[in-house]
Amino acid sequence: MELTPVHQHLAQTFQQMKIQEHVILKDYTTFKIGGPARFFCIVKNEDDLIEAFNFSKKNKIKMFVIGGGSNLLIADAGYDGMVIKMDISGKKYIEEGDFVKVTAGAGENWDKLVEETVEKGLYGLENLSNIPGTVGATPVQNIGAYGSEAKDVIESVYVLDIIKDEYKTLTNVECDFDYRDSFFKKNPQRYIIISVTFKLNKKGKLNFNYKDIQEALSAKKIKNPNLKQMREIIIDIRNRKLPNLKTYGTAGSFFKNVIVSSIKAKELLDKYPEMIVHAVNNKKTKIPLAWILDHVCGFRGVKKGNVGTYQNQALVLINYGNANAKEIIDLAQKMVDKVYEETGIEIEPEVEYLE
Ligand code: NAP
Repeated sequence: MELTPVHQHLAQTFQQMKIQEHVILKDYTTFKIGGPARFFCIVKNEDDLIEAFNFSKKNKIKMFVIGGGSNLLIADAGYDGMVIKMDISGKKYIEEGDFVKVTAGAGENWDKLVEETVEKGLYGLENLSNIPGTVGATPVQNIGAYGSEAKDVIESVYVLDIIKDEYKTLTNVECDFDYRDSFFKKNPQRYIIISVTFKLNKKGKLNFNYKDIQEALSAKKIKNPNLKQMREIIIDIRNRKLPNLKTYGTAGSFFKNVIVSSIKAKELLDKYPEMIVHAVNNKKTKIPLAWILDHVCGFRGVKKGNVGTYQNQALVLINYGNANAKEIIDLAQKMVDKVYEETGIEIEPEVEYLE
């Protein structure tokens, strides 16, 4: 077939720009689910990013950025736009008295960064050990675990402003962080994150308040853990509670933990006295959703066809092999309905759905 000048031009452009077409996305996610992207580009530096961005803008194509694909469910029909696989690397350490500022490219592996900072004796990221994904995803979700949140250590985020077509450095305040939430999450079509700067402490203090950590410390007879021991303990806990990504398709916790009014928490405690709750303040209370899914709704370790929940953690949905997005969504909807029926709580997915 002879190519028209327009097709010739596009074909040449794709060749030069590494833009691919109809790329199956499932292998770019830890769920191992998802149809094709109409356009797809692996971005390794700012020049690649600008080219993918200009191509999308000129051709009025919507864009979506993926990092490690570890918090993502992609529709079976795929995405009719440009998927940018963020792969910008690079790390820089700058000392400032008792602090060290670490800037890492958005495509850097998150846990490798945590490991490296712990090796260097820097405090701040240790409780966020063993979380899959990339550096660029940490501000979006404001990832958090065991009493630490990304917002506690993020100094600034360097971005491409899609609307104003300019580079910008956003301060921590401008990121508008909240519990597992941020400006980036609320406004997904505004910024593309290029790098993140963390302010870490040479003389930090460890936070081992969480029950799982306390239990692990006492099992190992450790009273005052050091930085490396904290990381090892958290890796052990997460390995025990969460499935191995090499064995199962999963995006980890599928739903957000629940924050309810203290009145609602009291009502539930009257009904389920053994339920554990954590006061946020005198008006709000956190409830571990895994406990409700397990003890109230009987969802731990269920399996139907290709999908189910993990035997050690009911919050985690699993693709047991060849599942499609619809099967996951159907199971998730059943869980949403059952939790509402039993407790009156409306639960929300934490995993992002791309369609
Ligand atoms: P968990 O430790 O059993 O905690 C369940 C819930 O109880 C969470 O909402 C947690 O709050 C809260 N909680 C537990 N101990 C607490 C304490 N001492 N003080 C205040 N709140 C307390 O939960 P899990 O499912 O096994 O997860 C372990 C950790 O990983 C949790 O911190 C969880 O939030 C985190 N996680 C984060 C993500 C993410 O960032 N996307 C995904 C999955 C799990 P917090 O949520 O505030 O910790």
